[in-house]
Amino acid sequence: MSTWFEAGQAQLDEVAHLIGMDPGILAILREPRREIHVSISTKMDNGEVKVFKGFRVQHNNALGPYKGGLRFHPDETIDTVRSLAFWMTWKCSVAGLPLGGGKGGVACNPKEMSSRELERVSRAYIAAIWEALGPEKDIPAPDVYTNPQIMTWMMDEYCKLTGQYLPGVITGKPVAIGGSAGRADATARGALYTIEEGAKHLNINCSAATASVQGFGNAGLHIARLLHNIHHCKIVALSDSKGGISNEKGLNPDEVAQHKARTGSVIDFPNAANISNEDLLETKVDFLCLAALENVITKVNAPKIKAQIIAELANGPTTKEATDILFDQGTFVLPDFLCSAGGVTVSYFEQVQNAYNYYWDIEEVYDKLQKKMRKAFHDSLAESKKRKVNMRSAAYIVAVNRVAEAMRLRGWV
Ligand code: NAD
Repeated sequence: MSTWFEAGQAQLDEVAHLIGMDPGILAILREPRREIHVSISTKMDNGEVKVFKGFRVQHNNALGPYKGGLRFHPDETIDTVRSLAFWMTWKCSVAGLPLGGGKGGVACNPKEMSSRELERVSRAYIAAIWEALGPEKDIPAPDVYTNPQIMTWMMDEYCKLTGQYLPGVITGKPVAIGGSAGRADATARGALYTIEEGAKHLNINCSAATASVQGFGNAGLHIARLLHNIHHCKIVALSDSKGGISNEKGLNPDEVAQHKARTGSVIDFPNAANISNEDLLETKVDFLCLAALENVITKVNAPKIKAQIIAELANGPTTKEATDILFDQGTFVLPDFLCSAGGVTVSYFEQVQNAYNYYWDIEEVYDKLQKKMRKAFHDSLAESKKRKVNMRSAAYIVAVNRVAEAMRLRGWV
């Protein structure tokens, strides 16, 4: 079985074939430019010394400094980090950001660590790799099990090591210490803008539309809230890891969030029926928002999907076979690296504000985000119409062409 990274390379090979890419450019793009492996020794609260594996992968920086999140997860592997760095190159490119692709991680379990231990691991990770980082080199951000506090410790450690105040070395910081307004719901808001454009393209009236959302964490809760609050969409089904709920008259996401805070899940919400996650995916709706896991739509359930638009806020929720089936049956898919690019776009805004040492109000952030997401959508849609390919291939072609052009201009081939 091929690794996740090899599957990404195979998709790149297909795009390269479609657009007749220079073989030299393809050979460079198939591999990350640099992989850093470090051992992070940390004294735990009980005096024991533990050694954690840490990684930073820098895939491509033709368009600008590497950019991508940092994950703290017990199952972190170099293959995951390598694949995610590769996808960050395409995500930044399709969003029109002057940034390349990178990703990092530490194999540790933050749920079993005290705050002091987490701080020591965070600082030790930066001390081990700081020379490869910088606002003009490589800019990490939060991801799975990392958060604004961790970003702040890391930024502080980097500033101590360099002897300069350089908050733009890392994004996702709290607003009080150089974060951007609008970061918390940026991924969902970016997805909302692409859903709005998709709806216009298909002549769907958002204010009369129905939606279901799989996953009720950061991305899922916010997209449900935005669709409900801004467009008065009827949210007919919601789910989390324990199961789903449905009500054809509509669910109020804030009330469901309060219920989840009390009970630990969305299930058993008053005036709603409990349903399975499979039922949720097959519910007839205008917008199906995937905000949980990878590989949830496969060749088995793809023919049963009745949504008009699928918005992929999660990474890799639709398999390759399912993408083809959905395209053939006319389901319009907003692919993950386009649909979820709002988070990295506001991260980029944060870095720009840090460089200026001048901060924007939230309206300015929303306005700039909307322009970026609309353009990314329409660039991809135009490519999809021109080549008669699905939106995933189209967005990929747009992204790859931009990186390839930058490489050509810089004389890398
Ligand atoms: P999160 O941990 O906050 O939420 C995940 C949600 O998915 C939780 O509600 C969990 O209960 C639910 N879930 C887990 N297993 C499930 C299952 N089998 N069926 C249904 N629901 C299930 O994570 P998040 O930050 O919201 O991220 C969700 C996805 O979006 C991930 O793929 C992530 O990589 C992607 N993403 C998130 C961001 C962001 O800014 N948060 C940015 C880009 C991409």
